[in-house]
Amino acid sequence: MSRPKVCVVGASNIDLISYVPRLPALGETLHGSTFRTGFGGKGANQAVMAAKLGADVVMVGKLGTDDFGDRTLANFRELGIDTSQVSRSDEAATGVAPIMVAPDGSNAIVIVTGANDLLDADDIAAARPSFRESGVVICQLEIPVGVTLAALRAARDEGTRTILNPAPAREDLAPELLGSCDLLCPNQSEAALLAGHPVDTVSQAANAARELLARGPGAVLITLGGDGCVVADEGGVDQIPGVTVEAVDSTGAGDAFVGALGYYLARGDELRSAASWANRIAALSVTAPGTQTSYPERVELPPDML
Ligand code: ATP
Repeated sequence: MSRPKVCVVGASNIDLISYVPRLPALGETLHGSTFRTGFGGKGANQAVMAAKLGADVVMVGKLGTDDFGDRTLANFRELGIDTSQVSRSDEAATGVAPIMVAPDGSNAIVIVTGANDLLDADDIAAARPSFRESGVVICQLEIPVGVTLAALRAARDEGTRTILNPAPAREDLAPELLGSCDLLCPNQSEAALLAGHPVDTVSQAANAARELLARGPGAVLITLGGDGCVVADEGGVDQIPGVTVEAVDSTGAGDAFVGALGYYLARGDELRSAASWANRIAALSVTAPGTQTSYPERVELPPDML
């Protein structure tokens, strides 16, 4: 059987995480206890999740010509991700996210998008053959919004199904973006900003999904943490319940969900069934620490999930 083909257009960052006794005051120098780096960026995370499940993944992105860029490429290659559409620029550094985490879990984060901002229309044009050959193209909002729109339109032109994960949250989303995707997949806070009302309950999410569907996407799926997700399309609005797990660290659960959803849709699953599988995969990611490191590998999964 041929492997599902997934193409992800988006950002890669290196997380630089310092564990500190408390967040420093303005001008203060503080000693941290531990430091670690992690691979991140929503695009990279989603690509890694789909690859870990066994998809043939093409990543479309931009890195700097620096050590962090080398390490990001090496991580993709180790996971079997096709990096032929990952280009490099010496005009900006690879994206980074310096993060400070205090013992009570409070944190302060600076994101320097760097080379991610230099992904452009030429890169999207060059990626068209990959869009054509993929079952699904996934985009987010961590690269210039015009480039995301160009990618959605190009993928559509090539006849490939598109998923837009409108993250990080923003309310000023160009209306064409919603009309250019086959599936809009926000979390609760992103859905609330787009819908203009709170999305704290399943029924508020169902209403928001219905309202967003009327703005042009082929379908809407709102993730609801431990409550799973709601799906709205021409077949109606349904909640797909979550899976109860002992939560350890939910960082990156949203990206695990979107990457897994891409895998199952590219495999040919119908939307509600793909959402149910993605709930199971994302729930597993919540039971382990870290982001990409918490994503389950194919070999760890029961055969019925693959
Ligand atoms: P994050 O910002 O933590 O990456 P998110 O806010 O983008 O996540 P969520 O809606 O919190 O996204 O979670 C995405 C999916 O992960 C959910 O739809 C669900 O399938 C799974 N999930 C998240 N938290 C839990 C949990 N505590 N228990 C079970 N599943 C969970």
